[in-house]
Amino acid sequence: MLSHSGRRALPFLLLLALYGCVPVFGTPVELPQKLEPQRDDYEASLSVAFASVNRFAARYDWSYRAEELILDFEVFETQGALWRRILELEDLPPGTALPVTGLAATVEGGHLLAVTPEEYRRLHPEYAQGDTAWEELLAHELVHALHVAILDGNDAAMGPVWFYEGFAVIGARQPLGLEQRFESNRAALAALKHLESRPKGSYATYAAVLRHFMAKAPLPELVRRARDPDFERWLLALP
Ligand SMILES: [Zn+2]
Repeated sequence: MLSHSGRRALPFLLLLALYGCVPVFGTPVELPQKLEPQRDDYEASLSVAFASVNRFAARYDWSYRAEELILDFEVFETQGALWRRILELEDLPPGTALPVTGLAATVEGGHLLAVTPEEYRRLHPEYAQGDTAWEELLAHELVHALHVAILDGNDAAMGPVWFYEGFAVIGARQPLGLEQRFESNRAALAALKHLESRPKGSYATYAAVLRHFMAKAPLPELVRRARDPDFERWLLALP
């Protein structure tokens, strides 16, 4: 006969077997061998990103925990290595060319993937300012995952690029576009149109435009309405 503790241990052992003996509690962090001596720092950075996203979600009563949005966290020394992992996860040919020059992090199939802080600074000297830029990058990707969770998995309902990227910048507390102000709804939306010819610095403007409208309507309502084809016309008419 199983003792009380034995009965409790059985499902736990089954879980361990299921997960291939990876610890079930806490998010597994996969590092290149060379970075193992800094494991504590990487785990601490992930905790900072989780806490930041959880504060953002709690402020709007979104009942998701950042820890539950991903299966694990994988770090890559180069953008090339990150891209090869994405191709593997998406089942694409290994030679597929990188479509975006700035790729530094993403969530792919539930895996949070990111380059190292050093590689991030090399790729994005304009964004990687400040001591917490890399944690903010991780939080940014987690906020995208939170956004999809809020929409019950329907990523087609995230709205225009400026909206979901602005949402991720603000949710991750990336200090971008804080000095940009608009005199009217029309001026805010016009700033997005101007970006089409010069995409550099666009995340700052995306965030500034969203901050403009967050002062006029609750963020959860903006999130709900972003999928509508008339979303920008609705924004224009806000008092
Ligand atoms: Zn993004």
